[in-house]
Amino acid sequence: VEWTLDGGWHDAAVHAYGPLSLDPSASVFHYAQEIFEGLKAYRHADGSVWSFRPDANARRFQRSARRLALPELPVEVFVESIRQLVRTDVDWVPSAPETSLYLRPFMIATESFLGVRAAQAVAYHCIASPAGAYFTSGPQPVSIWLSTHYARAARGGTGAAKTGGNYAASLLPQQEAYEQGCQQVMFLDSEEGRYLEELGGMNVVLVKADGTLVTPDSESILEGITRDSILQLAEDRGLRVERRRVTLDEWRDGVADGSITEAFACGTAAVVTPIAELRGEGFTITLPTAGAGELTMSLREELTDIQYGRRPDPHGWMTQLTDP
Ligand code: PMP
Repeated sequence: VEWTLDGGWHDAAVHAYGPLSLDPSASVFHYAQEIFEGLKAYRHADGSVWSFRPDANARRFQRSARRLALPELPVEVFVESIRQLVRTDVDWVPSAPETSLYLRPFMIATESFLGVRAAQAVAYHCIASPAGAYFTSGPQPVSIWLSTHYARAARGGTGAAKTGGNYAASLLPQQEAYEQGCQQVMFLDSEEGRYLEELGGMNVVLVKADGTLVTPDSESILEGITRDSILQLAEDRGLRVERRRVTLDEWRDGVADGSITEAFACGTAAVVTPIAELRGEGFTITLPTAGAGELTMSLREELTDIQYGRRPDPHGWMTQLTDP
């Protein structure tokens, strides 16, 4: 779908996958005016294909658009683009356990103009790719590296938007995490370096011994749809959920005195991943359950059961894309 300042949204079409033709002076190449989303389509036992909360991704896409001075794509156009894409070839959507079709909607500034201003021509696209099971033998607890030299996002910046620049900024710290033998990098707030923010591509939740879930509240993190869903499922069970500032010290002290028993990371790709340990310069916090705690695993199972149609969907999160 194309957008111009004069003409609004127009020319919706499904094309065969292939290179995009863009002018070398297209502003996306120079000023990174772009946003994206990530969501999945799941095949249910009767063969029908469903996506999980696409309206929530569409609204987050609109919030990202506002921050990046891009036009807002109507929610219906976003959801319809996914439906049309999946329907071009339903066999794309794999049916083996825990597999899915990963969908990647994105919007780029295409105007050929080297002045620094919001582009007056924009394109929205959505591509898709089958995704294997993230874990082949059940969720593997991960080790996380705490980045102390780098911040992912600053107050007033673009941290809450899903825009490429945030990911460019986290590549180097992510590499550091790999070099330390960890699978993910953890960021703290950029002002005081005390408060938990999120991982390179996932949100973080701590579980207390009494079943309370605690997760960082911050203006500079991406509001994960997986996190929001997991927290709602926890509230449905009558568990307490606290969205507030959380310090690194609280995590360390809580593990030391036994009041924090589990921790997990969550996001569309891996759903819920137990955290085994958090390491940084000169310290290690090791979770007592090596991460794979009971509550973490049961919330993971409840959410994936809803996504794959194995249990009722009380919140109406699933959107049907194709018939059985
Ligand atoms: N934070 C970041 C930085 C991410 O890239 C993602 C993945 N989109 C998340 C959190 C989790 O978001 P979601 O649950 O919507 O996938």
